[in-house]
Amino acid sequence: MQAPNHAERAHATWSASSAKRNMTCTGALGLILEVTKDWPEKSSEAADWGTCAHEISEACLRDGSDAERFIGETLKGKEHSFVVDEEMADCAQEFIDYVRSESEAPNTKLWIEQRFHFDDLKPPFDAGGTGDAVIFKPALKELEVVDLKGGRGVVVEAKGNPQLRSYGLGAVLANPGLDVDTVKVTIVQPRARHKDGPIRSETFTVGELVLWTSEMLAAMHKAKQAMDERATITGELSEEAWAEKWLVPGDHCRDTFCPVAAVCPALRTKVEASIGLYFDPITEAPSIKNAPDVGDPAQVGKYLDAADMIEGWVSSLRAHGHRMAEMGQPPTNYVLVEKVGREKFVDAEAEKKALAAARKAGVEDSKILNAPKAKSPKQIREAMKKKKADVSALEGLSTTPTTGTNLVRQDGTIRPAVSAVEQHFEAIKE
Ligand code: SF4
Repeated sequence: MQAPNHAERAHATWSASSAKRNMTCTGALGLILEVTKDWPEKSSEAADWGTCAHEISEACLRDGSDAERFIGETLKGKEHSFVVDEEMADCAQEFIDYVRSESEAPNTKLWIEQRFHFDDLKPPFDAGGTGDAVIFKPALKELEVVDLKGGRGVVVEAKGNPQLRSYGLGAVLANPGLDVDTVKVTIVQPRARHKDGPIRSETFTVGELVLWTSEMLAAMHKAKQAMDERATITGELSEEAWAEKWLVPGDHCRDTFCPVAAVCPALRTKVEASIGLYFDPITEAPSIKNAPDVGDPAQVGKYLDAADMIEGWVSSLRAHGHRMAEMGQPPTNYVLVEKVGREKFVDAEAEKKALAAARKAGVEDSKILNAPKAKSPKQIREAMKKKKADVSALEGLSTTPTTGTNLVRQDGTIRPAVSAVEQHFEAIKE
């Protein structure tokens, strides 16, 4: 079976994956819907990597194969493509092995990529999501939802996680008539280190889930209220008052990849306050009120506590500047330049010719092979140069593709700027 395409799936307005953000920051949903409505859809490399790992997992669970068979194949996420390597295959396989082990007992039922919605609860917006694997174990009267996380940057907790509870609730609603006492939610996150290991679970009773459901519904209605109040904003002052009333900045801005983090007034104010940053009213230059006291352990601890949130804000700001430039409005002093990818052989034939040329020049295989594959063109060229061999035999065998754009300071680059229009036409040509 081929890998299914997860990249084209649409998300519900209140998706399980945004439940933590929406339940922590009541105004987030309203702000996001308004601010991002004209933004082109973007997907990070990390998100696309995870999508491809999910596609491999689904294909293998459906046809009984192992992830290894995808190694070397190219899979496409929303924006980024990947040649499946061992790391991606291992990540998917850990999830596959866990799901298989939990679903092997007799009479166990398994649903793969099961979609669910909360329509029966009459939420104020469309709400739902997809459970990667849902397992019903009749002997235990337990319904388990297993969620694969491909990321390594944000370590996701299983306990008290609103996304996982949403999956648990969704699985109960999507499979009526099952005799369920407990719901177990499990995260498989092979690439991030956690003290409890890569596989972590939380189990709760159906009664506990019902209680949590009322909390979620209350949060949904508050979010709707915030959204409705947003529609009545008339000027800067009421915008500020709205932000103060409904927005709650914190680590979740980064951990949930809030799409408006770069432009969120509440997060910006919190970042500025955390480091004592202010903008000089005359020069508008940024300044820090007091030099950080790096000798005081308590003060350094306070700065470090804020570091994740600040880093999250900075990376969102970079992504936002990049998006503005792509839309034809680069931030002042910044330009888009081509992002140069890794040099690679043009095809398998070229790779063979390069290996033959290196061997003819007396280069040992250990210098040109990462068995069974060839090393990179650059490594082979360097190995030949060390043998004082003529490297002109390698000309035309490799190519250095451009892999998108980088946003850089105009006065800090010698690379020519590319315009958003050129980019647009390049994309069409492809
Ligand atoms: S950045 Fe943080 S505070 Fe701002 S809307 Fe997003 S979650 Fe809320």
